[in-house]
Amino acid sequence: MARAFTEPRLVLASHNDGKLREIRELLAPLGRDVVSAQELDLPEPDETGKTFVANAVLKARAAVAGSGLPALADDSGIEVAALNGAPGIYTARWAGEPRDFMVAMTRVNDELGAAQNRRANFTAVLALCWPDGHCETFEGHVFGTLVWPPRGDRGFGFDPMFVPDGYDVTFGEMDPALKHAISHRAVAFNKLLDACFGGNA
Ligand code: IMP
Repeated sequence: MARAFTEPRLVLASHNDGKLREIRELLAPLGRDVVSAQELDLPEPDETGKTFVANAVLKARAAVAGSGLPALADDSGIEVAALNGAPGIYTARWAGEPRDFMVAMTRVNDELGAAQNRRANFTAVLALCWPDGHCETFEGHVFGTLVWPPRGDRGFGFDPMFVPDGYDVTFGEMDPALKHAISHRAVAFNKLLDACFGGNA
């Protein structure tokens, strides 16, 4: 059985504005005091893990260590079937430094070339870690198809080239409220709510 989260305050272990916006909205109904790693000026740890779970835990534990508060981290990425799951855990790195997701999306599209199979999925792992070292992790996926050229400016990262199954708009064109209801992050978040917050949203 997962540990219940009873603390009034937590750190969001991210420096990614798009993720922070989405996770803050998902957390809003819980009435917790939420502060980001960015606001606390915490350093960003190197993502040396080999899995989404390992990297999410590593980021949450770094924020716990820097703040003394419980922390929630998200490690996520896009996995392209015809590229054997790449870029996967390296999604952010494909955007270079400073991050430019047009560069990353163009690379994915170039590597796909004329491939017929344009299937992809986003994966998100949320890690909630406490100062005593205990962590709970939750995983979510959303499946869809990659389009080119990219469409829409409402999301972040790879949103403009991803059309989720059952829709004909990209995540970049979609009403953010709908993306928040169906995304990989929302699926993982709902599992976290059920397990650690008694389903309260
Ligand atoms: P990381 O979790 O910080 O390693 O970065 C994950 C990267 O995956 C982000 O920088 C985005 O490019 C991409 N990504 C994760 N979730 C989403 C999403 O909901 N929409 C678009 N791109 C995403």
